[in-house]
Amino acid sequence: MSAVEPGAERPDRSAVSAEHPTQAMVPVVLVGAGPGDPDLLTLRAARELANADVVVHDALVGDGVLALIPAGVERIDVGKRPGRATPQEMISAMLVHLARQGRRVVRLKGGDPFVFGRGGEEALELQRAGIPVEVVPGISSSVAAPAAGGIPVTHRGVSAGYSVVTGHRRPGEQDVDWRALARVGGTIAILMGVAHRREIAAELQAGGLAPATPVAVIESATTGREVVSRCTLDALGDAAVASPAVIVVGAVAAFDVTGRRGHGDRSVAGCESPFGDGRMSAGIAVAGALGVPGAGG
Ligand code: SAH
Repeated sequence: MSAVEPGAERPDRSAVSAEHPTQAMVPVVLVGAGPGDPDLLTLRAARELANADVVVHDALVGDGVLALIPAGVERIDVGKRPGRATPQEMISAMLVHLARQGRRVVRLKGGDPFVFGRGGEEALELQRAGIPVEVVPGISSSVAAPAAGGIPVTHRGVSAGYSVVTGHRRPGEQDVDWRALARVGGTIAILMGVAHRREIAAELQAGGLAPATPVAVIESATTGREVVSRCTLDALGDAAVASPAVIVVGAVAAFDVTGRRGHGDRSVAGCESPFGDGRMSAGIAVAGALGVPGAGG
């Protein structure tokens, strides 16, 4: 972290304006923590952590990132975990309360704050309370997890785009139209999809995706617990995988352009051997034709 000088070039945001004394609030900074590896934090994020008075963070923020918070800075863990969750309204109310104390509040979220992080909701609540908000984008797991598996989410001649969707449904919320998504083409990155992977796979196939469509599941990407599993769409329901994970569906999911295959990758229960057994032949054939290393099976 030698590139980051704590306190360098940081404006004194606590200065009170003479004309608008009540408006000179210190902004709350919504900071993206990246996918886990502290090396993937932005320089600005590291600077905000170094200068914070209080850091309010989620469960998915990596330990290495949390270790960058200086001793003496208050930390509040509002992570949603099974059996223990801080309701969203309470988190927003807490941010407003802390900001009104004139403290530098960093709201630290895994990945990017605006990719399924409910950062937009918190920003709106702060705005309603008259508290300025700044956003520091982070590297989202929707792109970092595929990258960890050597998967380029777009690839000329194979995937002209990628969709990022949630696999998590809340009662009353509009579900992703999986069948329509299947017809869009390109790569699909599914976040929070592990629990519903069987229904998702069935819906995507009902929408026209071939059962042999390559799938990669990247668990705990960029952390010491990272696991990359490969299978085909018809086997995804039986795949032994765990959250947090990004499920990548599409021809590129058979790729490993970094050539690390065999080191971090594994075949998963319910899936045939991911390489060389023919079930992934569609993706591998495409990859082989494009000269992707190791794609010959
Ligand atoms: N704002 C975050 C996403 C929050 S939703 C981002 O931009 O990455 C939480 C989901 O993100 C998890 O269920 C999982 O699908 C995904 N996720 C977050 N970090 C991950 C990681 N290190 N490895 C794999 N998936 C991850």
